[in-house]
Amino acid sequence: MEIKPPRGLMPKLSYWVGVGVVFALWLTCLSAKAYPNQFSQNVAFPFTEQQTISVGAQLDAFVRQRTPASSVEALQDYVSEVGKKIAAQSPQQYPFTYTVLANTHTAEAFSGPGGFIYITTGLLNMLENESQLAAVLVHETAHVIDHDAIHQMMVEDATDLNVVLFKNGGDTTLSSALTHLGDLLLGQQFNADEEQEANLLGVQMMASAGYNPKGMVQVLDKFNALASQGVNIAFLQSHPASQASVKILQEYIQRNHLEQPAQVLDSQRFHEVIY
Ligand SMILES: [Zn+2]
Repeated sequence: MEIKPPRGLMPKLSYWVGVGVVFALWLTCLSAKAYPNQFSQNVAFPFTEQQTISVGAQLDAFVRQRTPASSVEALQDYVSEVGKKIAAQSPQQYPFTYTVLANTHTAEAFSGPGGFIYITTGLLNMLENESQLAAVLVHETAHVIDHDAIHQMMVEDATDLNVVLFKNGGDTTLSSALTHLGDLLLGQQFNADEEQEANLLGVQMMASAGYNPKGMVQVLDKFNALASQGVNIAFLQSHPASQASVKILQEYIQRNHLEQPAQVLDSQRFHEVIY
């Protein structure tokens, strides 16, 4: 029996859709080539992995200059160990680093492009168990995966980001650009959708890493309770979590059966190292 090639509207349509896609891709390449030392804000995420890591690494030096890393090796090692368990679940493999910054006065955590994650000793001292630590680290890891920090830089300070990315300026221009982007990073604040997305991706990754996702809910509940008593916590200001968004998170954990009996909620090591 002879099999005839399909005829009619649908195959023709898919042919022209295919031609259109190829043409659009060609146009994208053409416009990218036209501006070799500038990124286009029309593209969702226009950077290579190397470029993203390079921005993060330059800002890492800035962050450490402002607030030195804690010199307590056991603390750095432990936080890094918990972070690496989380990072192993990431769909995007950046060289994730988890740094404890020696600042007992500010309870804060934030993340730079390309996998640089920071937590202050002030925030560490407020946590009560290992899954709460995993929750803070996974939340920041999720921001890295979603490229939230570099997106914010694209929107709020594209000129300086171009300078840092493509070194198209002298030493003074580069140093000033790094200061502006560094200040943006230290005062990092994302919108409610980005925060919720980081929490939802975060609890999935926690469960895959064997951590009880309840730790995330505990952190948000605790900080919300403190805030309602008038306690000023930097982490809560930069990561606002309304009661409604905590409820969505709880329902998400339940619906996806993310909480399982054998998961880690706490460890002896947490209490040996942190307090
Ligand atoms: Zn956040």
